[in-house]
Order: sequence, then C-alpha cells, then structure tokens
Amino acid sequence: MNEVLDIRPSPPESRLAAALPKTQDEDSSPQALDAYEILDSEPEKSYDDIAKLAAFVCAAPVAAISFFDHGRHWVKARSCTPAFADKPFELPRGTVREAALHEPGKLLHVADIQADARFARVAARSGRLRLYAAAPLCSPTGDILGSLAVMDRRVRTLSPEQCHALETLARQVMQLLEMRRTLIGLSAANAKLGQQNVTDALTGIPNRRAYDQKLSEEAARAQRTGAPLSLLLLDIDNFKQYNDSYGHPAGDTALQSVARVLLSSLRPYDFLARYGGEEFAIILPATDLADAFLVAERVRGLVAASEFPHRKFTVSIGVSRLDTEAGPRALVQAADIGLYRAKAAGRNKVVIGKLNDHSPVGSATP
Ligand code: GH3
Ligand code: MG
Ligand code: MG
Repeated sequence: MNEVLDIRPSPPESRLAAALPKTQDEDSSPQALDAYEILDSEPEKSYDDIAKLAAFVCAAPVAAISFFDHGRHWVKARSCTPAFADKPFELPRGTVREAALHEPGKLLHVADIQADARFARVAARSGRLRLYAAAPLCSPTGDILGSLAVMDRRVRTLSPEQCHALETLARQVMQLLEMRRTLIGLSAANAKLGQQNVTDALTGIPNRRAYDQKLSEEAARAQRTGAPLSLLLLDIDNFKQYNDSYGHPAGDTALQSVARVLLSSLRPYDFLARYGGEEFAIILPATDLADAFLVAERVRGLVAASEFPHRKFTVSIGVSRLDTEAGPRALVQAADIGLYRAKAAGRNKVVIGKLNDHSPVGSATP
C-alpha cells in the first residue's frame, strides 16, 4: 500500500528556513506533477526496486520516493527494515523543495536533523531519526516534483559515492516518470486517432466505417434478442445543381447544415452516419417498420421545413427492416431499393424498400 507522510502545518519559521528562498505555495500541488498522473497511483515494482537500491547503497534503514501534493508528501515507494516498518515518520515541510530551489539539482544532506534548525519542528516528533538525505526529483522544466530520500537513526554522513548513487537513482526515477508521461501522451493521441478514424471530417458525424461497425453490431444484437432493427438511407435531392450554382465550398457548408438538422431530429439511441457524398444513413435499433416509416417522415418533413443558405433542401429516404434470415446486407439492399423508388417517384419522398420488388417504378406508396 502507498502511504502519506504526515506533514502538519508549520509553526513560525526558523531563522534558517526564513533565510531560504520562498517556495511557491506549498499547499498546492505543482501543476507539473499532473502530467505524470502519479499521485495515488498503485505501487509499482520499478519504483519499489529503486527505493530498495537507494536503501542498500546508502546502507540506510529507510528509503522513500515521495511527491509533493497539497501539503503532504505522498509516498510512491518505500523500503525499510522491520524496525521501521510500522513507524510513521515525518518529513520537514517544504525543506527539500526549498533546498532544491536554493541549490538546483543538489542533494539535501543532513547528518543530524536533530541539530538542524530547519528540522526543529519534526526533529522532536520524529524521535530518533538523525540522518536525512534527499535527492530532488526535478522535471525537465525545472519543477521539483518530489524526492528520493534515505533516513537513518544514526548521526552519519553519506560517502561521496553514496551521494552520487542517490542522485543517480533520483535521475532514474525521473526517467521512469518521463516514460510514464510519454505513455500517457501516446495513449491520448491513440484515442484521438481512433476517434478520427470513425468520424467524418466534414460533418463531424460518424463516417462509413463507424456505420459499418454499428450496423453489424446492431444486426447481431437483433438476431440474438429478436428485437426489430430498421434502417433509413437518405439522399439529398438535386445536390449537384446546388454545387453547380453556388460552388463546392457552399455545398460543403450545406452538407454540414443538413447533418446538423438530421442529428437534431433523432432519438438518443438512433445512429446517424455519413454514408458517402450527399448520402446519410440512420440506424434505428429496436424500431419496427411502421415506426421507422414515421421517423423517416419526420426527418423528411424537418429537412424540407428548414432554412439553408441560398435555397431549401429536400431529401429522399428509403426504409427497410432487418429480416433476420436475410441478414444486414439484405437490409441495406432493401433500403437502397426504397431510396431509388423515392427518387423515381419525384423526390422528397419516403418509400419502404422491398427486395425483389418488380412493381413499376414511380409508385411511392409503401
Ligand atoms: P439526386 O436528386 O438524383 O440525388 O440528384 P443529385 O444531384 O443530388 O445527385 P448526383 O449523384 O447527380 O450528385 C451528387 C452531388 O453531390 C455531386 C457531388 O459533387 C456532390 N457531393 C458529394 N459529396 C460532396 C461533398 O463532400 N461536398 C460537396 N460540396 N459536394 C458533394
Ligand atoms: Mg447520391
Ligand atoms: Mg442526391
């Protein structure tokens, strides 16, 4: 389990502490730390190993990797001998950070905290703790994030080699932190990329890939549960003419507006996608054919009643319902037949498509 080192509010500052440069507000977590998402994270072997190594090379009974957060030193990893295992120990509020700011990157090395004014408040409470040596964890931007510290009950100094090793291990902790930050950045970038892969760049609604995925998921669900599933295929009427009259950029803007109107007409569980060009698809889960027809009529009426730049628009819509025997491909074919017939019937129409429909085109009645 991770733990929190107890750091209570400061008494009036000692002369030495007052002589040290002022830190930023010690009770606020340095924002730089947020990027690492380390606070309150689970224990990790790589940090535990470094704490163990620090204790070993410094021949110290206690070593800890801790981070500064809202008035606490939050401990990520701790290594201690059994004699120290269940003893809380207190770190001097702000001292590591102050020392690090005073001498950037330098080890804070105190042979006897009982004899050091900066530690007057904690020295009394931390009982027999004497040696305190902390290497600051400095981010590449110079923020002091925390420390790798060793402590001992004996008054002693670390050898130059031990000091050097402690500083080296602190840099290793920073390497781990930087790797962590890189991974966080990568996974955010991946998530964004994944989102871009399924989003139509012009209209911002799901694209054909997302539609294919959603349709196969919903078809599988409908086949499993027996719930109905319906599909609308929509095509903007005479859109080429609009492009020809007002230009392609105006056509792009009109497509965005139509997508917005379509989106506003749907229920939360309906799924709108750009099917291609000036065509859209709406997947209607748990909707039978009669209700799908009503939805299509509502959508058609809404588009026809909406205002767009330059002129009004209408859409033609083909409707179909999944036949679980025939599968999703037949669902799309049937909607496509309906759309073709809606166009043939004069546009701005809704037609239920039927596979193998050989009736003369021109009839718009379902
Ligand atoms: P119909 O009523 O029969 O559907 O006629 P239509 O003019 O809409 O159909 P047609 O297939 O002849 O033309 C579709 C037009 O849609 C042609 C194409 O340039 C335009 N289009 C497709 N995608 C885009 C796009 O992303 N932006 C713009 N501006 N136009 C597009
Ligand atoms: Mg078309
Ligand atoms: Mg069209």
